[in-house]
Amino acid sequence: MAPVTQMADAKNGCNVDAPKGSRSCAVCKVTEGRPFLQAPDRFHGRKELYQLLKCPSCSFVWLDAPPRPEEMERHYGSDYDRLIAEAGERSPGRWQDRRKTLAELKTGGALLDLGCSSGSFLQSMKGKPWTLHGIEISPSVAKTAEERTGAQIFVGDVLAAPFAPSSFDVVTCFHVYEHVYEPVKVMAKVQEWLKPGGIFYFLVPNIDSAAAKVFGSYWYGLEMPRHLSHYSPNALRAIGKAVGLEELSIITRREPHIEYSSRYLLDAGLQKLGITRAPMAQAKPVSLPWRVVRKAYRLSILPVLSGLVALAGDGESIHALFRKPV
Ligand SMILES: [Zn+2]
Repeated sequence: MAPVTQMADAKNGCNVDAPKGSRSCAVCKVTEGRPFLQAPDRFHGRKELYQLLKCPSCSFVWLDAPPRPEEMERHYGSDYDRLIAEAGERSPGRWQDRRKTLAELKTGGALLDLGCSSGSFLQSMKGKPWTLHGIEISPSVAKTAEERTGAQIFVGDVLAAPFAPSSFDVVTCFHVYEHVYEPVKVMAKVQEWLKPGGIFYFLVPNIDSAAAKVFGSYWYGLEMPRHLSHYSPNALRAIGKAVGLEELSIITRREPHIEYSSRYLLDAGLQKLGITRAPMAQAKPVSLPWRVVRKAYRLSILPVLSGLVALAGDGESIHALFRKPV
């Protein structure tokens, strides 16, 4: 899914929650973040280390001195877009699952999808009693979404979108909220755009998950430096409370990304032995012998590893439902 960053605002020189280099927590405002961990961009196989800071009070984690919006192009690119598209193709059932969750709370109305990408989710809602809207930073991707879904797509930054207060019954945001520079301002905007009783339904990686703890700086969900904000259920509760949204539910679920995390770990081990593999961004279709090895790994070691991670704690993905008070 394409990132919804605060590009427009940053370019216009507006204030941000935590100015570049600031160590204050964007949620608590006064609490200073403490060094949490360092990691490079393992997806692209780059060496530059990034520092995460963690708030000792609310547990919000953020990227210290993140790349500027105009530098972000170098950190996304076609390899990343391909990976995201492939992930969408692999699990078409995800939209059905999310529709079902929404249907328990709302059966129709105006819906806005933040970071709607090429509109897969909006397409799955098409033809139902919904008026569809989206926000997408890339003009070409937004055009695809519009053609595919008939939705009205605002092209640009979330905070620059001109929607009137109390416009939407539902706002959704699936694996995009971790890409924003100013998470508190974005959720405050969602609160403003929702009608009283409206629902904010979003998914983010769980920095407090078992896999994050087991894999540390090799955890796939870190996605340095594309993920600027990292959340635990507690941090999300704190943000929701700060902007006046009620928590309906926050649950965690397993995500099948353990293979990526273990690949990062394996590659680092191989490098110590002098063997360098192409980074995941440039991974070619694997040859038959490697496919056999991979199949054996998936059938033997991976289930054991997944089982061990499951024993270590919560799932890797947070599914959150907030409501604007009536
Ligand atoms: Zn905090």
